[in-house]
Amino acid sequence: MIKKAASSNSPLSGNKSKRLIVIGGGASGFFCAVNAARMNPLLEVIIIEKTSKLLSKVKVSGGGRCNVTHACYSMADMIKKYPRGGSFLKKAFHHFFTTDTVSWFKERKVELKAEADGRMFPVTNDSQTIIDCLLQEANKYSVDILMNKEVKEINKRADRWQLLFANGLTMEADFLCVASGGYSKSTQFEWLQKTGHSIESPVPSLFTFNMPGNPITNLMGVTVENVVVKIVGTKLSQQGPLLITHWGMSGPAILKLSAWGARQFATDNYKFTALVNWVPLYNEQTLKDKFHQVRFDIAAQKISNRNPFALPQRLWQYLLQQSGIKEDVRWADLPAKEQNKLIKNVCAQEFGVNGKTTFKEEFVTAGGIVLNEIDYNTMESKIISNLFFCGEVADTDGITGGYNFQNAWTTGFIAAKAISDKSIQ
Ligand SMILES: Cc1cc2nc3c(=O)[nH]c(=O)nc-3n(C[C@H](O)[C@H](O)[C@H](O)COP(=O)(O)OP(=O)(O)OC[C@H]3O[C@@H](n4cnc5c(N)ncnc54)[C@H](O)[C@@H]3O)c2cc1C
Repeated sequence: MIKKAASSNSPLSGNKSKRLIVIGGGASGFFCAVNAARMNPLLEVIIIEKTSKLLSKVKVSGGGRCNVTHACYSMADMIKKYPRGGSFLKKAFHHFFTTDTVSWFKERKVELKAEADGRMFPVTNDSQTIIDCLLQEANKYSVDILMNKEVKEINKRADRWQLLFANGLTMEADFLCVASGGYSKSTQFEWLQKTGHSIESPVPSLFTFNMPGNPITNLMGVTVENVVVKIVGTKLSQQGPLLITHWGMSGPAILKLSAWGARQFATDNYKFTALVNWVPLYNEQTLKDKFHQVRFDIAAQKISNRNPFALPQRLWQYLLQQSGIKEDVRWADLPAKEQNKLIKNVCAQEFGVNGKTTFKEEFVTAGGIVLNEIDYNTMESKIISNLFFCGEVADTDGITGGYNFQNAWTTGFIAAKAISDKSIQ
């Protein structure tokens, strides 16, 4: 059962000596609140949530299964998964890493399992397990929760924080932890900018590429296990599975590109050219050698029947069509011009991208509070004391695979520990 704060301006309840208000009832806000309340029983902890739902992203995450973290136990490897904030998180992970996430949930009887690709889910395959665990912790340590309350302004008066809500009510706290998640517009950060903090402007990350009218979309549903996609005129390049959709391209290779290129793509208004190498083991030169060999080995066979790269048959037919090669041409009779065209299409096919589509399974916002204004050892503001940040509100974001929740758990835990320590002093 959720314990709700009685009145917005009530004095400290019972034997409590200090008050922490956490703004945001998402993953990072809950993790900060429940850990701080557990670490210092004398701290009154209140979560303020603007909507009528708690942990709403946890609920829908990972297709309803919640991809809690990633089975990566090397910090050096882990930080490579964060297009923004990797070096900040490298230091933060020393305080709370993936292993700590697994143990934390295990100690509360929530077992996590790793799938073949490293993504970790509760063994129940149900995100509600994570929500129930966090709500039980909140209940156990008497965390108060106020819903349907939007914080509009925060001001430091003497040594205390004063919060102003959208309905005009106010509330006071000794410590404030902002866990309000990512905002899509710069104007939504204004209440935080007023504290003196700078904002890296928000842009979406984790999206798929639109290719309106491109014949590749006729192949929707085709997956290629391993491709390399490069963006012309940039150093952006990613390797991995690619899924052809009815609007363009998706899959891990595309999503990773969208994250690493989030800012560049926004600047280019989501118009750019992608080069796909459908056979990353080859480049143009080695592919020429391979063709030479194939023409010798299976000279009498029809090209359309014998695809030497184990590419999906529909894709192979499409590549032949795009290269102007008729169905009944045999390998021995392939004219040089068409062969060169096919080689180009197989290892560097050009696709014009025009627009993006939000990846419904997971999306995040790049941008937020500038990281060099936050102390990675405590998550406390370097500009104003007793103000803490955790989760996606800071300029950190990861690729898909559980990295964004790990950011929420790590930064939420660090803030909780620092606030608990400070409140005991
Ligand atoms: C559909 C979807 C699926 C995802 N799946 C995964 C996944 O499987 N694995 C993974 O690692 N990541 C996933 N992510 C990303 C992950 O959910 C986020 O990175 C993570 O939830 C961020 O946590 P947070 O606590 O910082 O912010 P949020 O979860 O966004 O929580 C912030 C909360 O603050 C509240 N709030 C905002 N402003 C105010 C205010 N002024 N006053 C009061 N309350 C306020 C908001 O209403 C919200 O409830 C997914 C994201 C989406 C959208």
